Amino acid sequence: MPLLVMKFGGTSVADLARIENAAQKVRAEVARGYDVIVIVSAMSGKTNELVGWVETTSKLYDAREYDAVVASGENVTAGLMALRLQEMDVPARSWQGWQVPINTTSAHGSARFLSIPRDHIDAKFSEGFRVAVVAGFQGISTEGRITTLGRGGSDTTAVAFAAAFGAERCDIYTDVDGIYTTDPRITGKARKLDRIAFEEMLELASLGAKVLQTRSVELAMRYKVRLRVLSSFEDTDETSGTLVCDEEEIVESKAVSGVAYSRDEAKMTLLDVADRPGVASAIFGPLADAGVNVDMIVQNISENLAGHSGATTDMTFSVPVNQVDRARKAMEDARAAGIVSYDDLVIDTDVAKVSVVGIGMRSQVGVAARMFAALAAENVNIKVIATSEIKISVLIDRKYMELAVQALHDAFELEKA
Ligand code: ASP
Ligand code: MG
Repeated sequence: MPLLVMKFGGTSVADLARIENAAQKVRAEVARGYDVIVIVSAMSGKTNELVGWVETTSKLYDAREYDAVVASGENVTAGLMALRLQEMDVPARSWQGWQVPINTTSAHGSARFLSIPRDHIDAKFSEGFRVAVVAGFQGISTEGRITTLGRGGSDTTAVAFAAAFGAERCDIYTDVDGIYTTDPRITGKARKLDRIAFEEMLELASLGAKVLQTRSVELAMRYKVRLRVLSSFEDTDETSGTLVCDEEEIVESKAVSGVAYSRDEAKMTLLDVADRPGVASAIFGPLADAGVNVDMIVQNISENLAGHSGATTDMTFSVPVNQVDRARKAMEDARAAGIVSYDDLVIDTDVAKVSVVGIGMRSQVGVAARMFAALAAENVNIKVIATSEIKISVLIDRKYMELAVQALHDAFELEKA
């Protein structure tokens, strides 16, 4: 029988009525002839509550016990979903991660999959069961302890099962009806996309469109799992939602598919860094060692060379705003240790990043020019620019972020299909 993976996020299983609503969607797919693997999240708010209990009990908690507690939210919804399906005469069985077993690394709190053997679940399907309900977000380590995959990890569980079982599709049911050209809260012109390529979704996911866990999209891209994002609160059919798929399935693409933003950026500039081979490595090595996530980087000749012998350079980079202190310390320590020399470190924590994303950019010229013209027309000053094959990002003053997103959405006519 053809197989479907259906994943229900926290808001879709927030209470018993919503679990029943989700179960009806599962039953409908079973009636269409699918065997279904259902991946469930914990009821919304539950994981936060469990994390809070752990942190209140033990400040420097043992990560193995954190996982033992935090994984439990999904166990509840898995059992309830199986019961609800049984009440609807759909033969269903629930599985916790260790029962499958979902084998993972021992990196507690951010474990990665090692293998998902099919035999137990396949055996149940051959016995006549039509649905396997699997607790998302969890697994078992090689030491035999419960692990979790990191917040939002149920998406990744769903994609991993779709890959392991060769599912026809992986449907991610959530509280929005698909992926939009930009955040609809910023412009009413935001439009739901019918399709989006894995690469584009990856850029949008990591740029802050919080619908899918980034790792789930990476995994989907690697194993070519067709992902569909759709609402569990609406009547849905085969055409609902947004399909995240290989670019070959996208017939025609515009230069830009979406505009993403991130509010939580900071800009750091090291002034008058001695310009010699190895300087970049001397700066970004210590930052990496300190776990700082550097995104955009610009190097240019220092403006003020007065009083300095030899050439110096200014190095500007962006980091998440909550990593500024760590980054500053890494730089000050590196300077004290004589690893890098600079005159001053200037930090601007009032910046935002706005990006345009699209696979069509590969084949169309003038996208950057159009982007910069749109920002210029609104008098938005660009502080840093970074580009990749399918993305152009700018750092701007945070107070202009909404304006910039709206202007770019208009400039690339994203409201039009
Ligand atoms: N319940 C977990 C979380 O809130 C995993 C998930 O829902 O994807 O992070
Ligand atoms: Mg989620």
